[in-house]
Parts: sequence; structure tokens; C-alpha cells
Amino acid sequence: MTKVLLKKKISRRIENGHPWIFANEVATVEGDTTGGEIVEVYTHDKKFLGKGYINPQSQILVRLLTRDKGESIDDAFFYDRLKGAWEYRQRLGYTENCRLVFGEADYLPALIIDKFNDYFVIQTLALGMDRWKPAIVSALERLFQPKGIYERNDVPVRELEGLTQQKGFLSAPFDTRIVIRENGLQMHVDLENGQKTGYFLDQHDNRRAIQHIVKDADVLGAFCYTGSFETHAGYYGAKSVLGLDISENAVAQARRNAELNGLEKVCKYEAVNAFDVLKQWSKEGKQYDVVMLDPPAFTKSRETIQKAITGYKEINLRGMKLVKKGGFLVTSSCTNLVGPEMFLDTINLAAKDARRRLRQVTFQAQASDHPIIAGWENTNYLKFLIVQVL
Ligand code: SAH
Repeated sequence: MTKVLLKKKISRRIENGHPWIFANEVATVEGDTTGGEIVEVYTHDKKFLGKGYINPQSQILVRLLTRDKGESIDDAFFYDRLKGAWEYRQRLGYTENCRLVFGEADYLPALIIDKFNDYFVIQTLALGMDRWKPAIVSALERLFQPKGIYERNDVPVRELEGLTQQKGFLSAPFDTRIVIRENGLQMHVDLENGQKTGYFLDQHDNRRAIQHIVKDADVLGAFCYTGSFETHAGYYGAKSVLGLDISENAVAQARRNAELNGLEKVCKYEAVNAFDVLKQWSKEGKQYDVVMLDPPAFTKSRETIQKAITGYKEINLRGMKLVKKGGFLVTSSCTNLVGPEMFLDTINLAAKDARRRLRQVTFQAQASDHPIIAGWENTNYLKFLIVQVL
């Protein structure tokens, strides 16, 4: 088997057990470096570090799959890992829907699997993981007897690995417009054409956190996608809910979700640019009891973090101005590079500018089926904050 020897001074990330080895961290490679092959990685003094897959075309040369020299990477390996991942989610109380595999955090780098009850959506975002798609599909079939498996590899990041963007069935074809249950509600999910894997499971625990504050409230939800938070707000007793999203498709689905739950009189939606509308309405002095913000990621690159922070400050400032005294702001950020502290600092700066005082109700991360590993920055990506705005 090919051996990859690291440079003497290895990065803090590798010491922390993170499974990525960048090309510039490698001293020598002994043997074949065909993309997708399994290789062994050693420290400069020949201590075994782990086994993983190599891709000389990628800046991330190797991603480790195991730290155990005796463990072979074969079909059984993927079956065992998926079984372990499912057992972990079950222990946490997930029964129907969950992120079954959260890539690195499940020691299956570049693999995402979302479980929507009997349906599964897969993303293989690196060449070495893409190779194992048949083994992953067969493990899912053995473990769950799924009604359908769908591939959502229409993701640009695959091109950095020399892979094409594609989507399609990995099982017999099925109707990809499904209905899932969440927190007592029903939600339409479009596995084929929805954003990412079709639905944002990372917020499913957080959606329950709005239960008490939305009761009898007039609620504004910006960046609502298919109205998951907004439908919850209606279900939890909001007086009125207005959801905003730039995507006509998302808004149409949000309206269907309102109907599906008998909330079409309460939950209304508009397809608009939320940045413009928040600016305009805050100037006009509109007021809501609860404002919810869940924008898309603002940056993926370190060079533009400052711009992202300015963006967060701006929309949260507008959001706060739209909150009645004593009402609540529910605000999220999924930008990986903006850490929890940085996010809180930004919100506090916005409050200062808006001349409002904040009282923190809760500050959470993503749902626990998306595990966070200490020191592995990219596993801790979602910030979810509720504050009372005084
Ligand atoms: N809250 C949602 C997820 C939101 S994802 C949920 O829990 O399911 C971010 C959303 O912001 C996407 O639906 C995207 O269409 C929308 N979006 C992106 N830019 C926008 C803009 N300028 N105005 C309004 N919505 C926007």
C-alpha cells in the first residue's frame, strides 16, 4: 500500500485528529498516487497515523478514514460505520429524520447522508468517497430497506476533486416529492429540486426553541425557504406569520406547507429580496413581536470574512429595529468561518448601533445529529440565537 510521509512539523489540525492532510504538509509519497486509492499516512519518524483516500488533484491530498492499522477499508467498513452512525442518532432520540452521516464528524470525510424517514439523500463530495458509492448504497439497503435513495451531487465543490456535478436515483426511481414529519408538523420536501439535500435538518432541534415566544405574536421570518420556522410559528400559536424568500419555488412550497398543516390563514409568504425589504420596512417603522432571520452563508473564504460580518451586522440591525420593545429576535448564521464568539460580538455591535439592549434567551449550535468535534472548526458551523430586544 502507498505510504504518505508527513513533514516533521505537523499542523495543529492533524494533531487534533482532524482527518485532512493537505499536500503542503506531506514530505514524500512512496508508491502509487492514483486518485481515489487507499493509502497509509505516517509521521516523519514513521509512526502510523491512519489510512485514507488520496487525490493528487485536490489540495486536500489525503482524507483519513481510520486511525486503526488493522481496519481494512472495504464494503464491511462502510456498513459498520453507517450502522454506528445510526445507533448514535437513535441514542440521541432521532427516529425518522436525521443527518445520518455528517462527514468528518462521523469519520467519513466528504460523505453526507440525510435520512428522511424511508428516503435517503447522499452527497459524496470527494473522489475517494465517490468511489465507495456502491458500498454505501448497499449498506443503506441492508440497514434500512429504503423506499428510495437519491444522489444530490450537484455541488460545485466536487469540481475541486475532478468530479462532475450530478444528481439522480441510486435506487429504483420514486416520487422525489415526499412529506416528512417534524415536531408534530408535516412538511413537503422536494429531494430532487430542493436546496442542498432538499431540507435543512440542521435547524430541526432549534425550530422547537421558538415555541413559547411566538404565542399570539405577529411574526416576520426572513430567508424562510420552505417555511419550516414559519410553519412552526403558526403551529405554536402565532397570530400572524409573514415569510420572505427570494426563491419563488421556495415560497410556493412554503404556501403548500402552510396548507398541509391547516395554517394557510396564519402563514403568508412573499417572494422578495429580504435585504431590500428589511431595509425599507425598518425605515418605515414597521413593528413585529418576533423577527426571525436565517440567511444563506455569507462567505466561504477567509479573505471576505470582514464583509460577511458587516452583512450580519447590517441585517441584524434592521431585524432588531423591526422588533417591538420586549419582543424577540431569532437569528442564525451558517457561515463556517464566523465563529460563535464573533457572531455574538457582531449582534451586540448591531444592538449598540440600533440603541437597543438585548437579553439572551438561548444560544445554540446545529442539531445534535450534526456532531461537533472539539477543535475541528468546520464541524461547529451553525449559530442560532434568540434574544429579547429591549
Ligand atoms: N430557514 C430555512 C433555511 C433558510 S436557507 C429553513 O430552516 O428551512 C436560506 C434561504 O435564503 C434560502 O431559501 C434562499 O433562497 C434565501 N435567500 C437567499 N438570498 C436571499 C435574499 N436576498 N432575499 C431573500 N431570501 C434569500
